[in-house]
Formats: sequence, structure tokens, C-alpha cells
Amino acid sequence: MAVYAQPVQELIDELGRLPGVGPKSAQRIAFHLLQVEKVDALRLARAITEAKDRVTFCEQCFNIAEGPVCELCADDRRDATLLCVVEEPRDIVAVEKTQEFNGRYHVLQGAISPIEGIGPEQLRVRELLARIDDENVAEVILCTNPNLEGEATAMYLSRLLKDLQVKVTRIASGLPVGGDLEYADELTLGRALEGRREVGG
Ligand SMILES: [Zn+2]
Repeated sequence: MAVYAQPVQELIDELGRLPGVGPKSAQRIAFHLLQVEKVDALRLARAITEAKDRVTFCEQCFNIAEGPVCELCADDRRDATLLCVVEEPRDIVAVEKTQEFNGRYHVLQGAISPIEGIGPEQLRVRELLARIDDENVAEVILCTNPNLEGEATAMYLSRLLKDLQVKVTRIASGLPVGGDLEYADELTLGRALEGRREVGG
């Protein structure tokens, strides 16, 4: 016999699929949603629907966008010769906060992770190569996370790009190892960007 009524169990299961939400938290959130006013719970449901309906991925850089291209790609004041490669759209937010970067971005939509079965072919690598070719990129900054997957991805890309006519740099170490860019403070990440070094591949 199920512990909870089926709709409750389904809600708990769905919440439990969210990143960082364990079974206990899923249960707590589910019961919270059941207790609040219907209008408040539905606001969350509507926000999810709206976001999924209106937000897509930029066809140039794969950042989140409210149209075919994102605001950053549409802004022609930004330096198109500088291309900052990040794992996720949220990393763009982290780099933008530093106010140290005025180039463009390319979102890989993940990082290489043998454990999770993610290889380069699951990432936006082909699209990156096409952009380097098409957009007269002079420097590619590998701004992946300072953890195992991020470093593996940076190493893979530096090897892949080494024969191209483009300078490839990696953000400086000094960021908390094992962490994500989004947890680094602006100053530290800004320094890491400024202190980026050319990689030999
Ligand atoms: Zn874009």
C-alpha cells in the first residue's frame, strides 16, 4: 500500500527529480505546496509554464533567450573577437557580474563527464568550432568550472583548438577548487579572468 495518495506521491517524485532536492526536501516542499493557498501554488505552476513557453536557447551561443538570439549576442557593442566558453547559462551571469568581460559567450550546455556518460558529442562543441570559423574569433577563453569535469572539458577543447588560428586561454587558478563558477565571488572570478593564460594543448 502506498504511503501517500497518488497525486501527493507524484508531486513528491517530481520535486525529487530537481537538482539538489533530496527525498526529505521533496516531501517538505510537497506538503508546503498542499498547505498554501491554491492561488500561491498555482503561481509557481504558471511561472514554470511561462518560462518553458517563452524561453528558448539562443541559436548562436545557447544562452537562454526570449527570441532567436539572446540579448548578449544581439548587442553589437560587444567584442566579437573574444569568445568566453562556459558550461551553463548561469555561468554567464557569474562572468557578467565581474564586469571584466565585454566579449561574447558560448554555452556548452554541460561538461565532459565519463561517469555520467557525457562526451564532447553531447555538448555544443561542433557549434563552437563553426563559430570560431565564421566569426573571426581571435581568442577563446576556456571558462569552465574549476572541478574535475570542467578541467577535463578545458583540456579537451584546448587540444581540439590548438591547430586552429586562434589563441586559447584558460582562466587562472585561484578559484576554489572543486567548486562552481557561480559560487565564486565577483572579485575572485574577475581576477581569474584577468589572469588567464594561454594554453598549449
Ligand atoms: Zn546568444
